[in-house]
Amino acid sequence: MIETLLLNVLFLLFPVLIAVIFFENRLTKSNEYILISISSVVLIFCMAFPFTLETGFIFDLRYIPFIIAALFGGYKMVLPLYLVLNSYRFFIGGEGIYHSLIFSTVIFIVVPLLSRRFIQQNGKSRMIYAVVVTFLVTVFYFITLGFHYPNLTSEFWTLTVYALVIHIIVVSIIMSLIEKVIFNVKTRELYFRSERLKDIGDLSASIAHEIRNPLTVTNGFLQLLKGSKTITADEKGYIEFSLKELERAEKIVSDFLTFSKPQSAHMVYASFKDEITYVENIMKPYAKMNQVDIQVHFTNSLKKKYDENQMQQCFINLFKNGIEAMKDTGGTLSIDVVEHKNNIIIKIKDRGVGMSCEEIAQLGKPYYSTKKEGTGLGMLMVYSTICNVKGTIDVESKVGKGTTFLITIPV
Ligand code: ADP
Ligand code: MG
Repeated sequence: MIETLLLNVLFLLFPVLIAVIFFENRLTKSNEYILISISSVVLIFCMAFPFTLETGFIFDLRYIPFIIAALFGGYKMVLPLYLVLNSYRFFIGGEGIYHSLIFSTVIFIVVPLLSRRFIQQNGKSRMIYAVVVTFLVTVFYFITLGFHYPNLTSEFWTLTVYALVIHIIVVSIIMSLIEKVIFNVKTRELYFRSERLKDIGDLSASIAHEIRNPLTVTNGFLQLLKGSKTITADEKGYIEFSLKELERAEKIVSDFLTFSKPQSAHMVYASFKDEITYVENIMKPYAKMNQVDIQVHFTNSLKKKYDENQMQQCFINLFKNGIEAMKDTGGTLSIDVVEHKNNIIIKIKDRGVGMSCEEIAQLGKPYYSTKKEGTGLGMLMVYSTICNVKGTIDVESKVGKGTTFLITIPV
């Protein structure tokens, strides 16, 4: 019994190990497929080495990789497991094939429905979630099995208790490892990000200042030159081009200055209401130009100390990105500010172009931009501002569907 248990835990650990050792924090699409393929093999191993009780009853842990894949990946990820499970079950043959087919189909349909909510939870709740789902699935399994056997012997009950206990133990072990991996990856990412912000913040203020003066001088002389009557139309074109590029350079410099140490910090103790309203008003014309409707729901009453100017600039950047993501289609940019257990939650949601996982990972890196006119400094400033108030930013995005920024600020 113990040997089988250890063997099965080893099987189930395998995908986790592969993820930690080879994929580190890059869970790309192809890595996901590799993981699912490995999990399918693991599922076969689980079925090939089942637990056999002295009484002759057998059970195995096949539903553990099944449930975990369904919860983390939804239908797309669990489909291969579903097919492998049933193909192998038919290959084994014997009685109970149809029971297994019907049961796995029900699980296949129901469990991925929980995936969306599951992913939104924090690590601890996800673990509880997975344990409860596994418990319910196992109970459900034995209830349906119970209908199969006309008279339920005490052996049947022994089996049920054994299976329940083992499933719960194993799922807890696997889930705590998975959550630990996720936690480590997130912490490391956060650390790198804040290191980067610190360096850039220190350097940028001085450099940006130094660059701004020559830019202003050059701009002035070019303007004068443009007014001259002795230059040709061609030359005028060159000057206009230079002016436009100068303007771009100035934009980058001023973007830099807004997130580096602010010149005039204006700290307030407030609920974000004024800043959100202010930014909503000043962004309205830009939104209208792009057929975007801004909708704000504000129910927060908690207060926090923050730099008003910096926070306004932060919201401007987020709103602007949301509007720009929808500029081809139009749509609604919805902003919700609510309180939840001593946290202020700010949700900014658009239905624009969205981002892939790789693009989300790039967010906040200086100069990362996919826009022709972009500076790639907006999100850097957003991360730096939210970092200053000890908040966190979660990004949820689907290509073609839209993006949600979830900012959590503890008070
Ligand atoms: P910029 O807006 O100048 O390109 P940002 O730092 O504001 O720079 O954003 C960096 C990149 O992140 C953008 O170019 C875009 O690709 C992506 N991005 C940011 N916000 C969104 C969003 N709401 N929807 C889709 N993509 C976004
Ligand atoms: Mg931007």
